[in-house]
Amino acid sequence: MQSPTGRLSVRLFWILAAVLLVAGVAMTRAAGARPWPVASILFLALIVASAAAWLPVRTLRRRFGDLHAAADAMAGGDLGARVPVDAHDDLALTARALNELAGRLEAELGALRRERDAGEALLANLPQGLALLTRDLSIKYSNSRFWAMVGVTRPVGAAPARLPLARQPILEQLAEESIQSGRSVTSDVALYVEEKREFEVAVAPVAAEAGREPEAWLLSIEDLRPEKRMAALRREFVANASHELKTPLTSIRGYAETLLSGGLEDAANRARFVETIRAQAARLESLVEDLLALADLERPDAPLERKDWDIGQIVREIGSTFEDVASRRGLRLVVEARPGIRARVDRARLDLALRNLLDNAIKYTDVGTVTVRLERTASAIRIGVSDTGRGIDPEHLPRLFERFYRVDRGRSRALGGTGLGLSIVKHAIQLHGGRVGVESRIGEGSTFWIEVPPDGPHLHS
Ligand code: ADP
Repeated sequence: MQSPTGRLSVRLFWILAAVLLVAGVAMTRAAGARPWPVASILFLALIVASAAAWLPVRTLRRRFGDLHAAADAMAGGDLGARVPVDAHDDLALTARALNELAGRLEAELGALRRERDAGEALLANLPQGLALLTRDLSIKYSNSRFWAMVGVTRPVGAAPARLPLARQPILEQLAEESIQSGRSVTSDVALYVEEKREFEVAVAPVAAEAGREPEAWLLSIEDLRPEKRMAALRREFVANASHELKTPLTSIRGYAETLLSGGLEDAANRARFVETIRAQAARLESLVEDLLALADLERPDAPLERKDWDIGQIVREIGSTFEDVASRRGLRLVVEARPGIRARVDRARLDLALRNLLDNAIKYTDVGTVTVRLERTASAIRIGVSDTGRGIDPEHLPRLFERFYRVDRGRSRALGGTGLGLSIVKHAIQLHGGRVGVESRIGEGSTFWIEVPPDGPHLHS
């Protein structure tokens, strides 16, 4: 197909030829000569001259076309496109300059891309979770660690995610604090993702130049260093334990003082005072027993005395020791455990775990049935303790196995709870390389379960 300029040149050629022909004929006629031979010579000369000019024009057109195509490709992002250079004229100089420009751009873009990829890989693999926020708490940039730490699947989509999507209100609080004050904010916080974990969170304003208004805020979440986390846990534990010990002690001291300052003569009430002292002393005793049990389970060198036991037999034996207390509370106790399911366990510690679960199920159930069920699953021995109690709100489930965590502090205390039972269960079972868990529905009841590997722990063998 011919281009419009091509078509125009062909037309111009024919017009020129026609004009020359007519002019030649007219001129020869005016000179009195025979016009046709002269005209034919003229016409032939024109054809030969045009053919001689045609070749370089065609080459020129091809070279311009190449230049144009390469420039187009470069503009479209293909910086690898090059113009063929096969001459030494001005056009070749232009082509060479264009090729050089594209080469330089390509190299610089490649370097920038590599730098960007390295930066991204670095940010993605940092131990910190990072999120770059705008003033309205939109997330301009975040690394995958950030989403892993807050326990939310990284959102996809064109619109930027907002910080509330991370479902950790404390992060929003710290970000707002930094945005309002214009200063960096750092704090040790607990985030709840399946279980409570301590992190160090920092929010710092980021400005393009020193002294300018910040344009973004960098939020970073870092795992508390092990020493710091241990220290925080220890402080929390000591504070909780002291508080738990102080309450019955204060009560004992109060009643003892009442008795000494005349209460002994108060025949109507003194027996009640003494009974309260006895009950508070019993509470202290069980608290100290639980603390000792926990300390024993948490010892790094805690020995595990594993032997091959008939777990069905153990479950039945322990079940039978709870029959009295269950029937006193008007509850039915069902034990579904056939003998012959064997495993290598530390009997004393398995007993401790199972007793705590049964004690809770009976304690927190007012009517109905408590069922203990022993099963062999594909990979473990599983004991489930189900009750028809009031059930537990899902928001509490992730924290139930923490020390001193209670859903209803008053009710637990009134029933003689220490808040340590489930953390004892967890530690005793984890020592076996096993797992613990709970399923519960409000108004229907709860099932607490423990699983131990049948051939003993893999970690502590
Ligand atoms: P406690 O000594 O208070 O019973 P635990 O560590 O054994 O401490 O249990 C922690 C909390 O879990 C309890 O305070 C109670 O709120 C809740 N809980 C445990 N077992 C049950 C259950 N079977 N039904 C309802 N709530 C339970």
